[in-house]
Amino acid sequence: MQKTTRTLIRQNQGPFFMPLGGAGEIGANFYLYGSNDYWIAVDCGQGFINNPSGDPQVLIPDIRAAKVNGIVIRAILITHGHEDHIGALPHLWKKLRCPVYASPFAGELIASRIKDNRLLNQLHTINPLKTYHFGPFHVEWVPVTHSIPEANGLLINVAGRTIYHTGDWKLDPTPVLGRTTAIKRLQAIGEKGVDVIIGDSTNAPISGHSISEASVQQGLLEMIRPLPNRVLVTCFASNLARIYSLGKIAQQTNRHLSLLGPSMQRILGIGKKLNYLNDFPEQIQPQELGYLPRHEQLIICTGSQGEPRAALARLAEGNHRLLELEAGDHVIFSSKTIPGNEVAVARLMEQLAIRNIQLLTDSDSLTHASGHPAQDEIRQLYEWLRPKHLLAMHGEDYHQEAHCNFAMRLDINARSAKDGEVYDLSAAPKLIDAIEIPLIQLENR
Ligand SMILES: [Zn+2]
Ligand SMILES: [Zn+2]
Repeated sequence: MQKTTRTLIRQNQGPFFMPLGGAGEIGANFYLYGSNDYWIAVDCGQGFINNPSGDPQVLIPDIRAAKVNGIVIRAILITHGHEDHIGALPHLWKKLRCPVYASPFAGELIASRIKDNRLLNQLHTINPLKTYHFGPFHVEWVPVTHSIPEANGLLINVAGRTIYHTGDWKLDPTPVLGRTTAIKRLQAIGEKGVDVIIGDSTNAPISGHSISEASVQQGLLEMIRPLPNRVLVTCFASNLARIYSLGKIAQQTNRHLSLLGPSMQRILGIGKKLNYLNDFPEQIQPQELGYLPRHEQLIICTGSQGEPRAALARLAEGNHRLLELEAGDHVIFSSKTIPGNEVAVARLMEQLAIRNIQLLTDSDSLTHASGHPAQDEIRQLYEWLRPKHLLAMHGEDYHQEAHCNFAMRLDINARSAKDGEVYDLSAAPKLIDAIEIPLIQLENR
């Protein structure tokens, strides 16, 4: 960063915006906001490079860019508990040593990964729709629906400007678990006017509306009901609503439920602790499955992306220590294949098919819904919030570009932000500097 910019961002109220991860890729979300030399970060996530082996390489943001420019991060504000928003905390928090603010659900996920009590003492739980003050920043977490409970957008008032940082979101009137989007609050925010939206671009190229989680529950029920043998469903462990739906389906189809994989057990424990699963069926231990008829079994497991160490990969190889799949069993992929994982997923499916396992995916019936907004939802949110400007983030160039083009059709001044850029938001977002700041690749776990 040029010396003049460095001085400018430290001596002026801006506000300034500097993404160090997530702007130009999906993953490693880490966005800095500064005013009068007071800086906060929104999210602290990890990214992945997927490779054909299915064993992803972890990427984290490079915080040296903040350090060399004299930026001290005073607080990290978490929008929600997905890995691409909290996954870098185990690596970066011990260096940043500042308080972290998160919803109860995201907080539990963070706490399950951090062992250092000095850090955990700095973990604070927020209540949505309440204003928190961080130096010159006044921040409110605004509940939105997504594919994990307790996702939030952030309303940030600073230096006379109103910024809305969307986080990850969709408009789901029936999210199965958790609260719905705080529509009235968003409308009220829009009445006062929003200067800049920092917005999720993931599904901006897609027209229409995302599918509701309740429709996925119905789709899975209809798919599972007639199946004659053992049913195994693989989904993302963080999608607690999906796991809840499968628990309900197990009850409705008279099957016993079992969960495989430590991340599934971890999320289930958190869901129970926070009272999301009060009417969830008792699960049976995987080792007891052998005593039950196959048609009375419904198993949820990790590994939908072909990860070689996950439960499904072991089952496909026939070397899971607690369960063996048999010919005629059914494996349902309640997930989408993340770009980059196609080869690993295809290999997994092939292994299952060789064992005469019946595969069912999204192309057979509704088994999955995205957690991100398509164009109809983006239009609706922007009608409520009436922003003057958009800085597109949470996406690769292609997603960000589609987002900007769409916003411009709605008469919103829009541009894509990129990692390492510095924007002055005191008027229309103005790019004042840009530095090369690639993500750091970690050694494989
Ligand atoms: Zn997310
Ligand atoms: Zn995300």
